[in-house]
Amino acid sequence: MVEGNTIIPPGGRIGILGGGQLGRMLAMAAAELGLHAHIYCPDENAPATEVANELTRASYDDEAALTRFARNVDVVTYEFENVPAETARILSEQGAVRPGPLALATAQDRLVEKTFLAARGIATAPFADVADERGLAAAIERVGCPSILKTRRFGYDGKGQARIGTRGDAAAAYAKIGRAPAILEGFVPFEREISVVVARGLDGTTAAYDPVENIHKNHILDRTFAPATLDIPLAEDACAIATHIACELDYVGVMGVELFLLPDGNARRLLVNEIAPRVHNSGHWTMDACTVSQFEQHIRAICGWPLGAPARHSDAIMTNLIGHEADEWQRRAAEPATAIHLYGKAEARPGRKMGHATRLYPLGTRPPVTSS
Ligand code: AMP
Repeated sequence: MVEGNTIIPPGGRIGILGGGQLGRMLAMAAAELGLHAHIYCPDENAPATEVANELTRASYDDEAALTRFARNVDVVTYEFENVPAETARILSEQGAVRPGPLALATAQDRLVEKTFLAARGIATAPFADVADERGLAAAIERVGCPSILKTRRFGYDGKGQARIGTRGDAAAAYAKIGRAPAILEGFVPFEREISVVVARGLDGTTAAYDPVENIHKNHILDRTFAPATLDIPLAEDACAIATHIACELDYVGVMGVELFLLPDGNARRLLVNEIAPRVHNSGHWTMDACTVSQFEQHIRAICGWPLGAPARHSDAIMTNLIGHEADEWQRRAAEPATAIHLYGKAEARPGRKMGHATRLYPLGTRPPVTSS
């Protein structure tokens, strides 16, 4: 592996931890740039493996396998945020892991993440630490109700969360999240959910894609509307917040920042919900509506290449194909101006992301956002 700020030219080898669809699309982007992808993951038949140059199938705590992997690549990146700290440490000792350990440690723990943001003056929902059941009562005193109790670690797509409507819900909510160390967040009466995908290069330059609006179904991203319908100052504000976070994390690569837009008198304001230290589902539209996709951008950033311009040439609506929705591939393929991306997963389980379809529209003509 290379050290420090070394640039990786075409022909270089990118190690990717994780073999899901994000790893698959990263590997494909690497190939487009003349780079080789080496996937490291424990799973059989992982979507990324069939498009990668090399595969190591081993667990994330297999030190010997990690060391061999590190010797065989120039840089290591990852497609999921729950890379064990020890895995990241072993690899970092061998050379460049991009994004670096600060981004991983911050994004893996909701309390560390919110504390990090608050210390930098970045607005979030009010929050309090919940170390145990007594701590929950104190947190409810501080944050109030309604609120949401979330496990500090390993929560995603609404898992590890429980709503607290009144104080009387506390015990059941704590049991629901498995009595794990948690954070209590004030419930945000948001109007819309926005996200920004931002890149930061090895030389510190940044590039933010346009903010987009996200609609969730059963806690899973259903559709992304690009761009979000936002007044220009708010759109600029969203990009500035994401860029500020990337700089504060000394980030290298592409990062997703999820925000809530909420009414504030006659105006609106933005709160950060969470950051994802990786390419993001709400950035998939960039594959078809921008010259340089988030996947290519991430590979460029971690290899120390110039970042691509994030400008979009089309408006877009990206629809996730979840579970059996992917069975509709023929209908999707027949839609006008639509690109489909299928991840090669054999079994369409409920809630499983099987692919996505992106429909393009000329700039400024995207249909309005609908909730269903
Ligand atoms: P998260 O896992 O933090 O992304 O939360 C999943 C979803 O729960 C978000 O996309 C929101 O729709 C909702 N949510 C999370 N936190 C809050 C909050 N503090 N107030 C209101 N809704 C929330």
